[in-house]
Amino acid sequence: MEVASEGSTSICSHCDRAIPSSNIDLHHAHCSRNLKKCKICGNMVPKKHAEEHFLNTHAPVCWSTASGRF
Ligand SMILES: [Zn+2]
Ligand SMILES: [Zn+2]
Repeated sequence: MEVASEGSTSICSHCDRAIPSSNIDLHHAHCSRNLKKCKICGNMVPKKHAEEHFLNTHAPVCWSTASGRF
């Protein structure tokens, strides 16, 4: 259940989340600098972990090393 909190929210154009309007500038600066939208699954992923996310989530099976499977 969502309760309308005091103040309004704005949708961050980078991550499409509702952010308190008082925070949107700060959030957007942080968001666009640190987060990246995964082109494959559309999730927001920290830029630092984008590669890790890709490898863990979208890497082709043949990339897995020494898993012993198959
Ligand atoms: Zn954002
Ligand atoms: Zn992804």
